[in-house]
Amino acid sequence: TIILGIESSCDETAAGVVKNGKEVLSNVIYSQIEVHKKYGGVVPEIASRKHIEVISTVVVEALEKAKVTLDEVDAIAATYGPGLVGALLVGLSYGKALAYAKNKPFIGVNHIEGHIAANYLGSEFAPPFVCLVASGGHSHIVFVKDYGEYEVMGQTMDDAAGEAFDKVARALGLGYPGGPVIERAAKLGNMEAIEFPKSFMEEGNFDFSFSGLKTAVLNYLNRQKQRGEDVNIYDVAASFQKNVVDVLAKKLIDAAKVKKIDKISIAGGVASNSLLRERLKEEADAKGIKIHYPNKIYCTDNGAMIAAAAYYDFIKGKTSGLDLNAIPYLKIGEKI
Ligand code: ATP
Ligand code: MG
Ligand code: FE
Repeated sequence: TIILGIESSCDETAAGVVKNGKEVLSNVIYSQIEVHKKYGGVVPEIASRKHIEVISTVVVEALEKAKVTLDEVDAIAATYGPGLVGALLVGLSYGKALAYAKNKPFIGVNHIEGHIAANYLGSEFAPPFVCLVASGGHSHIVFVKDYGEYEVMGQTMDDAAGEAFDKVARALGLGYPGGPVIERAAKLGNMEAIEFPKSFMEEGNFDFSFSGLKTAVLNYLNRQKQRGEDVNIYDVAASFQKNVVDVLAKKLIDAAKVKKIDKISIAGGVASNSLLRERLKEEADAKGIKIHYPNKIYCTDNGAMIAAAAYYDFIKGKTSGLDLNAIPYLKIGEKI
């Protein structure tokens, strides 16, 4: 079974071709990061226009690289939420139009379920497992009971983990996106230098809150400035990153314990963070839990993960109508 997956929910225009939900035949990503950099974040209107400019090229390139024609594709999948509505509509409309023109089944995919499905790419990893989804707009602890069967155990009450990286990076003058630049800066700093607060750390609470941490970092920077004292941005980056990793790792490991599941995984842009990966590996090894990481290139937005998620709908015969609309606040596990 060969599926073409299209992704345009935020600032990556992407398409991937995947065989049997696992084997990546191609994965083409056009990132708009350079376009949005000067604004310090994604500008929705610009994102939609950029998607329109490149979607066709990206899809054609994905098919060419995979050495398959549209006729050889069994189904076409596209993200229909959550995300920016104008951005979502580009990939969704394009995918639906291709499906209509070629008379192929169409499958609308939840972007967050796509991030989780990145774990299946190039791997034999399979449910049940507990997954930490930490991306630019979402932070969830999800019990993946089976393909397409999710129980959300906790989620952020305010900022997402990736959003906190982005906002703190901006405050430190490190640029955008925040994750990679903070990770680099943190290598030059002392992660024990500054103690920032952690939220919801009581046992059995799997919700997150990162806005308090963000505010604490901003307050620290302002206080140092008022006192005329220097700020070591490397120490701030390292201490901030350690704080986030402490929280994410503890909750994921605890969630696996609660579900009595010995398999965990991570997903979303923040899952490419090396400190998070190292820490989870240590803690999982110590507790006899098996941890699986998606390849870093499948952690941030891409089309292959959308095709992987669609595969499990396809084999169950679950396809979408061509009247499927974009749903900016689509929840995980919600099927429309
Ligand atoms: P969502 O998936 O919630 O709709 P998104 O698609 O914009 O949001 P992703 O592409 O999954 O998010 O991830 C982007 C986020 O990941 C950004 O916030 C970025 O700062 C963060 N990120 C990327 N690399 C790293 C890293 N090495 N360490 C920490 N965070 C990272
Ligand atoms: Mg992005
Ligand atoms: Fe994403």
